[in-house]
Amino acid sequence: MSDRVLRGSRLGSVSYESDRHTEFAPRSLTSYACPHGHETAVPFAAEADIPYNWECKVCGAPAVRRDAEEPEAKAVKPVRTHWDMLLERRSIAELEEVLAERLAVLHEHQGQVKAQLKAEAAKARKQSA
Ligand SMILES: [Zn+2]
Repeated sequence: MSDRVLRGSRLGSVSYESDRHTEFAPRSLTSYACPHGHETAVPFAAEADIPYNWECKVCGAPAVRRDAEEPEAKAVKPVRTHWDMLLERRSIAELEEVLAERLAVLHEHQGQVKAQLKAEAAKARKQSA
């Protein structure tokens, strides 16, 4: 059986077909070294894009390729938050205005609710008197 069985696989998910008489696609072994000195060899298809990092098979620490330099980190795109997007559409002054409008609406609604509750309470008092 090939040593490419997925980690964590169980009965049923593992093929027990023999590899004998099976021709694999051309592969190359890539060697990884972890910070604890373990070596992990991983077979990749010849045309595969071989990753620079791999998990150490012994201790699970991140291992790096022994035959390649670390690729330059890709320029990380700054994360655009909802707040950033909002600021692209409106200025702070505009946002203050919108906030004030919404607060006025809320306060008006609250005032109506309070008046209604007061009226109901008065009505209830009259009825019980
Ligand atoms: Zn290790």
